[in-house]
Amino acid sequence: MTETAAHVLSAKNLVKTYDEGAQAIHVLRDVSLHVERGEMVAIVGASGSGKSTLLHSLGLLDEPTSGEVFVDGASAKGLSETQRSRLRNRSLGFVYQFHHLLPEFSALDNVAMPLIVRRENRNKAREAARAVLDQVGLSAREHHFPGQLSGGERQRVALARALVTHPACVLADEPTGNLDRYTAESMFELLVRVNKEFGTAFAIVTHDPALALLAHRQLYMDKGCLVDTEA
Ligand code: ADP
Ligand code: MG
Repeated sequence: MTETAAHVLSAKNLVKTYDEGAQAIHVLRDVSLHVERGEMVAIVGASGSGKSTLLHSLGLLDEPTSGEVFVDGASAKGLSETQRSRLRNRSLGFVYQFHHLLPEFSALDNVAMPLIVRRENRNKAREAARAVLDQVGLSAREHHFPGQLSGGERQRVALARALVTHPACVLADEPTGNLDRYTAESMFELLVRVNKEFGTAFAIVTHDPALALLAHRQLYMDKGCLVDTEA
């Protein structure tokens, strides 16, 4: 089953329930959404409202109890784990609250890693990584290790790593959650610039409403329900 090609990401009637003995926990209650090609969508909501669970489902990292996710027009329903990761690697990039960079590798090699893992030529991977590091303004830091970078720089390296495969959509879970106000703002502005310049779509979870307003559209999670303020 396919979906309209205008959407890089869509979810239909996602339900996620955890069965805790007698008591079921309803984390996603019939959530549907679309992210258009090149669109930047912010998802805001209180802690525990289900934002990370939604993002994991959209990123094919977690299977919903019911409902369907489409990535770049292709349904993820019924795919094997290998097929799911192929679809994920082809079309999606991820940025988390904590950078998850490999401490023993340079910034350049961290960014090149997704390509190296795909067994692409190491020199070509480094060349691609260098280009993306330049785009996030970190050319001068390519030989530095994560421990030698500031929090904001590490998040920019993590963004470069997400972008190196040229994903149609980047999923970011509180990418500025661990940064001070000023650094968070400049990180978010960088996301906006990448979106504008490269047409990469973004679905960004943030608890900061001011930053969310920089996106094209804001969606609100409330106790497992998604509210589109424009709908
Ligand atoms: P948010 O990212 O908005 O803070 P989460 O998606 O992380 O929220 O979690 C939403 C709810 O789902 C929380 O109440 C959390 O306790 C519950 N939850 C998440 N993972 C599990 C799990 N593996 N088992 C049971 N409950 C879970
Ligand atoms: Mg979360």
